Amino acid sequence: MTDLQQFVYISRANFAGHRQGRGVPPEVGRILIQSRLNNPRRGLVGALYYGNGYFFQCLEGTPKAIDTLYADLLDDPRHRDLKVLHRQDIRAPSFSEWEMKYVPDAAQVSDLMRRSGMDAFDPYRFAPATVGAMVELLRKGSEGMPQAKRAGMPAGASRRRVARGTVMALLALAVLIAVIALHR
Ligand code: FAD
Repeated sequence: MTDLQQFVYISRANFAGHRQGRGVPPEVGRILIQSRLNNPRRGLVGALYYGNGYFFQCLEGTPKAIDTLYADLLDDPRHRDLKVLHRQDIRAPSFSEWEMKYVPDAAQVSDLMRRSGMDAFDPYRFAPATVGAMVELLRKGSEGMPQAKRAGMPAGASRRRVARGTVMALLALAVLIAVIALHR
């Protein structure tokens, strides 16, 4: 048995709207940088979606880690009207590779809204099935904030890339030392 939960909440942004398809809004970029710095130390992973002035965030970690962050989130002046949509025990995280994955205004979100009978992204009107479909969409969607803009400790795949690079560098060094030793 694991002590892991998946937690989904929504909120309304307190900053002015942003035209869709114009990249990551600066306020959201700052939240992502802060999340990616903090979440490894908090023991959390997850994904964030921002669209139509709403946030939809999926967090995964221990109940304690989730509750601690949620207490901070409730006090954060950058959003309001927080509402928990889903909380359940999980065996393994869906976002283990991500301190906080960001999926931009994806065409798939518009498709999901159409299929759910909605003309715009409004998570306050989501049925439970739409919440699940949205989490799945975030899991499968492409990351929208380029690697160069990511801050903090590398996670998952990037951490493995760094480890591979270190092993290759050590191997190259060992070969070099062996060659020098042979030519002495
Ligand atoms: P600091 O970064 O030092 O912040 C101290 C206080 O200042 C916080 O109470 C915060 O509310 C406020 N603050 C910080 N930056 C700003 C700003 N630019 N404008 C206005 N007030 C500000 N944090 C995480 O750690 N992980 C997450 O996954 C995460 N997701 C978030 C999702 C959303 C939609 C929002 C709005 C915030 C999210 N945050 C997340 C931020 C979180 O609410 C806290 O601000 C943050 O965790 C506090 O980080 P810190 O302890 O390093 O404090």
